[in-house]
Amino acid sequence: MPSVDRLLAGAGDDGVAMADLPGTARVVIIGGGGGGGRVPHYLGGAVGASCLYHLARAGWTDCVLLEKNELTAGSTWHAAGNVPTFSASWSVMNMQRYSAELYRGLAEAVDYPMNYHVTGSIRLAHSDNRMLEFERVVGMGRYQGMDVRTCTNDELKELYPYLETHDLAGGLYDPYDGDIDPAQLTQALAKGARDLGATVVRFCPVTGARREGEWVVETTHGDIRCRYVVNAAGYRAGEVGAMFGREVPVVAMAHQYMLTGDIPELKAYTENTGRKLPLLRDVDSSYYLRQEKSGLNLGPYERNCRAHWISDDDPMPEDFSFMLYPEDLERLEWYIEDAMARVPLLAEGGVSRTINGPIPYAPDGNPLIGPMPGVPDAFEACVFTFGIAQAGGAGKVLAEWVTEGATEWDMWSCDPRRFTDYADRDHAIAKGIEVYGHEYAMHFPHHAWPAGRDKRVSPVHDRIRSMGGQMGAYGGWERANWFACPGDDTSEEATQTWERDGPWFPRVREECLAVRDAVGVLDLAGFSWFHLKGDGARDWLRGMITGGVPRVGRLGLGYFADDAGRIITELSIIRLDENEMYLISAGAAQWHDRDWLVKHLPAQSSVTLENQTGRRCCQIVSGPHSRTLLGDLCDADLTLPWLTWQETTIAGARVLLIRVSYAGALGWEIHSENADTPAVYDALLEAGKRHGLRPFGMFALDSLRLEKGYRAWKADLSTDYTILEGGLERFVKWDKDSFKGKVALENQRQQGVAKRFATMTVEAGAYDAPYMSTIWKNDTMVGETTSGGWGHRVGKSIALGIVRSDLAEPGTSLEIEMYGRRYPATVQPDRPVFDPDNLSLKDPGP
Ligand SMILES: Cc1cc2nc3c(=O)[nH]c(=O)nc-3n(C[C@H](O)[C@H](O)[C@H](O)COP(=O)(O)OP(=O)(O)OC[C@H]3O[C@@H](n4cnc5c(N)ncnc54)[C@H](O)[C@@H]3O)c2cc1C
Repeated sequence: MPSVDRLLAGAGDDGVAMADLPGTARVVIIGGGGGGGRVPHYLGGAVGASCLYHLARAGWTDCVLLEKNELTAGSTWHAAGNVPTFSASWSVMNMQRYSAELYRGLAEAVDYPMNYHVTGSIRLAHSDNRMLEFERVVGMGRYQGMDVRTCTNDELKELYPYLETHDLAGGLYDPYDGDIDPAQLTQALAKGARDLGATVVRFCPVTGARREGEWVVETTHGDIRCRYVVNAAGYRAGEVGAMFGREVPVVAMAHQYMLTGDIPELKAYTENTGRKLPLLRDVDSSYYLRQEKSGLNLGPYERNCRAHWISDDDPMPEDFSFMLYPEDLERLEWYIEDAMARVPLLAEGGVSRTINGPIPYAPDGNPLIGPMPGVPDAFEACVFTFGIAQAGGAGKVLAEWVTEGATEWDMWSCDPRRFTDYADRDHAIAKGIEVYGHEYAMHFPHHAWPAGRDKRVSPVHDRIRSMGGQMGAYGGWERANWFACPGDDTSEEATQTWERDGPWFPRVREECLAVRDAVGVLDLAGFSWFHLKGDGARDWLRGMITGGVPRVGRLGLGYFADDAGRIITELSIIRLDENEMYLISAGAAQWHDRDWLVKHLPAQSSVTLENQTGRRCCQIVSGPHSRTLLGDLCDADLTLPWLTWQETTIAGARVLLIRVSYAGALGWEIHSENADTPAVYDALLEAGKRHGLRPFGMFALDSLRLEKGYRAWKADLSTDYTILEGGLERFVKWDKDSFKGKVALENQRQQGVAKRFATMTVEAGAYDAPYMSTIWKNDTMVGETTSGGWGHRVGKSIALGIVRSDLAEPGTSLEIEMYGRRYPATVQPDRPVFDPDNLSLKDPGP
């Protein structure tokens, strides 16, 4: 245990001075200043140090980083140090691109020399599908200004002369990839922060936290009061989270890499050419291979992987400083042999050392960066699987969250609130193992990952499954993606394609046509559901949304903007009474929306917000026969117009009946208490036999909503766009005195909106446009898609996206790049592609 003397004594020999524990700070970062590096006297914990550096750069120098060790345990010290920019996720790529740019200039910026080798990297493709993935990433990379490119086998061989290419389909070259000394990186970031006035305190474990108006962080050396806290405790994030009552979804996976001895031929290669080999990733075999001095470093992500510290007989030690798991080369055998066949030179080195250390995994493999769910003034920057490559970008993002309450790029993919309470320990372990074992896997559009499922199920889940429902998880909730008929191929293998076509396609078409011609029902479990009430509730809501609050008895869409006018979220508002409403939003948005609403609730008022998510279940009943079907089941007034609600009784149960349809047809949502839902559902199915009722799934719903131009949250609706850019001006009531974001939106309106939302039809061949496909006009990139899919009712591929304003005019010819090829696209009028006058939706009835 470090002594107080050492705490106060100051610097070790690593140039990082120490400081007394201050009594107060604006921000306290927990974790990130420990030891690290391959030489264990450096500071480690890349992410915390980067957060401190970026806060200091933003002028927030009154910030303190508390690290429990000097020669600490964090993952940073044993990281291989690879710094890829490649990612199939737009926002993660953005973060990694930023890191690489930062690292290139960091040594000079903070005057701390570092070993950072920008060697470039190659990724190998064993299949055409993999090449398509590469093409897609190249498109995104180019859009972010990076010169990544696909290459042929001959080009691979030129870049990497020791490579066996006979069975490859090609590869990808990323000139910005490389490796950095993780400890030196951390040291440099900490030095930069300290030079700007921030403080690092080592040997100072945080032991607890309490709220006394502000945060009081408890350490073994006393308390420190602060406005904000950041959990940057790496794989120990769970322990620190618990101090705030937060269950962090994290599991530590054992990751091993092995280093070979010197390989004379490699040594000669570097001497002759003056360069190192590019970093090699055989993503289909699942390993990286990097030149380390004159040897090689092989790091597999093995299928037969191992999670640690998950059982009572394997507890996480109090202190794992500079400790490693025992080496387990047997687990890597297949990968070593595969790599030796790929790069025979590898066999010449012999294993000189193995490193087997903990990497923290969140259930989807992305880190947690952003507000700590449900906890005020607290943030997370932890659970990094690629914390060296991402530390730079993560520091930027975290500092923006803390200092501005918003980030430049939409970072939902890394937002801690993307997981809700379904992401418990079991889920985190199951998903961590799955993600690790498929670290480099392709994420196909119709594939549903199988581990950690059934955490939240509808009361009619079993019925849905027995009808052939092929399930997907949406914010933890199981919903049918499509309904298979006997004989359909429902294997996971069948989903391993980028193409739209597959066993689901004819069924999804039938489901969509049932909604067009008869009636469909979709069991939509897990809407986020809030009950808002109290004097002043209506006025408060009116100031929060850009548009108007619907009248009592009606419902409407409310768009929430931030102060910059950017799209925060979309909620359906069901006006129950003057000052009482239900607010409903996407299942995945629950914690995000809850925190946004709670944060902005008026202080000292009687307005209350109750999170009622999970109490009710929803049946979407849509199609021209929906009125007659419901007429058989209840005595509701089915002539009430679109966007009205009423209570009625179905199968003996009181339900809320809302006339609205995300499918864009005549239809209602039936919201029933969970306990009543099976009876309601059964009654619908039974009566539906007379009306051509067919269950439909989420794939069909996506097709139906695209045809109506309805936006999807965190695809078409994100903070990357303002309300005006997102084409939502018709939801803005400019004549309101004020609303959040009004000033910014007025300014934007005056100055002109440079880019705008557009619906496009695409002559798309075998594919539909994935998220963030680039849009071209001649040879210029002019925008990006936000979602795309096949419209079964109109028989066309549809893409939603954002384009340069002058090109958003209906009829404009554009091209959309998908998987490396450009396809003609045409901008559509600003109205639905299917049923442009909403005749079906608004059908007044008899
Ligand atoms: C073998 C191996 C190879 C890897 N290779 C790469 C790679 O090539 N590229 C890459 O990007 N990533 C790689 N990683 C992953 C990378 O190491 C981690 O993602 C990264 O180090 C995480 O950094 P961090 O700052 O979040 O966490 P850490 O480095 O774990 O730092 C967290 C810090 O918090 C401190 N702490 C914890 N609890 C407390 C407390 N209560 N009070 C105060 N302080 C506390 C810890 O002491 C620690 O110093 C590798 C990991 C392993 C195991």
